[in-house]
Amino acid sequence: MKFSELKIDQRILKALHEMRFIEMTAIQEKTIPPGLAGKDVIGEAMTGSGKTAAFGTPLIHGTSKGGGIQALVVLPTRELANQVGNELKKFSKYVGLNTAIVYGGVGYEQQIMQIRQAEIVVGTPGRLLDHMRQGALRLGKVKILVLDEADRMLDMGFIDDIKQIISQTPQNRQTMLFSATMPDEIVRIARRYMREPVRITTERHISKHLLKHIYYDVRRDEKLSLLSHLIEKEKPSLAIVFTATRRAADFVDRYLKSENIESMAIHGGHTQGARERILEGFHRGKIHVLVATDVAARGLDIKNVSHVFNYDIPKNALDYTHRIGRTARFGKTGKAISLLCNEDHGPFRNIIRYISIEKGHLEDFKAKPVHMQRDRDQSHHAPRRWHR
Ligand code: ADP
Ligand code: MG
Repeated sequence: MKFSELKIDQRILKALHEMRFIEMTAIQEKTIPPGLAGKDVIGEAMTGSGKTAAFGTPLIHGTSKGGGIQALVVLPTRELANQVGNELKKFSKYVGLNTAIVYGGVGYEQQIMQIRQAEIVVGTPGRLLDHMRQGALRLGKVKILVLDEADRMLDMGFIDDIKQIISQTPQNRQTMLFSATMPDEIVRIARRYMREPVRITTERHISKHLLKHIYYDVRRDEKLSLLSHLIEKEKPSLAIVFTATRRAADFVDRYLKSENIESMAIHGGHTQGARERILEGFHRGKIHVLVATDVAARGLDIKNVSHVFNYDIPKNALDYTHRIGRTARFGKTGKAISLLCNEDHGPFRNIIRYISIEKGHLEDFKAKPVHMQRDRDQSHHAPRRWHR
């Protein structure tokens, strides 16, 4: 089905066409019509399947210029706020709506100015609450509330903030939740804040033809060496290497640099400015390998990421899904490569129970001694916390 078959404001259609959005993706086809009809929606679809436009289209259609803040999108990270906010700006370009993007780590003044003009607000929970407490942000006119990466927004870390935000919006609002993963438990919580939501689940995993899952057996002390070997062998156009902790991200990054691989670490320990610069460099292909923690990379839409490496295994299946979702986006191919040492195998098998993953063979790999100062306590190599 095409966007042009929808009964939407022609100005939205014009913007979508300019962005070469012609055919709808599965999740868009299934959630935009109920969204336009004002229904509450829970949408679950694999990463890179176009969830932003799935909620963005009804959101913009239902918002009128000059009518105050009518739409609120809450999401977990600053980068996602920028990404989604900018996408909504593009969709609403010809409708002339104003979108305020708010997140922590930067000044308040400019955000307050944006909020004053805005019909749409996109932001992270902490800063949204700050603005609300200071009286700069009022949600009394909100008609549409979206939680993007909804499972993350409703888990332990964010739920209290979200409750507070929701309590300031009108009861008769429309609520939409989107994520690649929606555990039943989260859906149960979500239903308390929704009215007879339509729940749409499309294919959760990226097709095997597009995304190959591979693992390599490796000794723990040879992981670094294998990683650089694989990067040299695979020649990824862009790669993301995932680690369990910030320290590990920095450590792996330092090692790759010492091997003359253009890498950068990105994690919550960096300032907002630094994170933006790093992502910008990666977007433009100046940095080839991004070494990231789960939080830093969730939901990011970066074109042409050909490889995802699990240097440390993910905590659970959700994190695996979100990690590998950074590649094979929108019909492109990709590889997800996991480096497993002995003690990784057990937990990892549990994580990927439903995904078929091939063993990779190493013919020409000789571990090189690692000539760099190791972290003194090697804490990132200690048994992981989730082995409870
Ligand atoms: P998700 O939130 O599901 O991970 P995004 O909304 O970030 O996915 O979309 C992934 C990419 O696909 C983006 O670059 C987006 O612009 C593009 N995209 C989404 N829907 C369409 C469409 N119908 N036609 C063409 N490109 C699309
Ligand atoms: Mg998304």
